[in-house]
Amino acid sequence: MPIDAKLPYDDGNIFARILRGELPNKTVMESEHSLAFHDINPLAPIHVLVIPKGAYVSWDDFADQASDAEIADLTRMVGKVAVAVGADTQGYRLLSNVGKRAGQEVAHLHVHIFGGAPLGPMLAS
Ligand code: 5GP
Repeated sequence: MPIDAKLPYDDGNIFARILRGELPNKTVMESEHSLAFHDINPLAPIHVLVIPKGAYVSWDDFADQASDAEIADLTRMVGKVAVAVGADTQGYRLLSNVGKRAGQEVAHLHVHIFGGAPLGPMLAS
């Protein structure tokens, strides 16, 4: 990936501020290493974000730098949240945008969980 396609980690990003308690959030689930909360601008009836508490900008950064405990915790939380919010009963979609081309707005790794309605094609054409 060209270097300018990547976003740098910035401690002032919105999710870092949520993790520090500087901004409110509607928490769905919290664990030692991860936090799940409702997206402020939901794009589906169910739209939850799952983030690591550590300062990771992207999935590749997380896979390279995070501990096995952090990776297991986030992975398990995604599945548990999908069940907790009822997304598993009708099917759901996981999405993680990485970098500018993918439209990543917040430079702190997050996994979107979408559900609660038919989700349409995988990518807009
Ligand atoms: P991205 O485009 O980076 O994959 O997604 C960022 C997501 O963060 C968007 O869906 C946006 O609605 C959500 N978001 C941005 N600011 C806030 C906020 O302050 N609180 C919450 N809960 N979600 C936010």
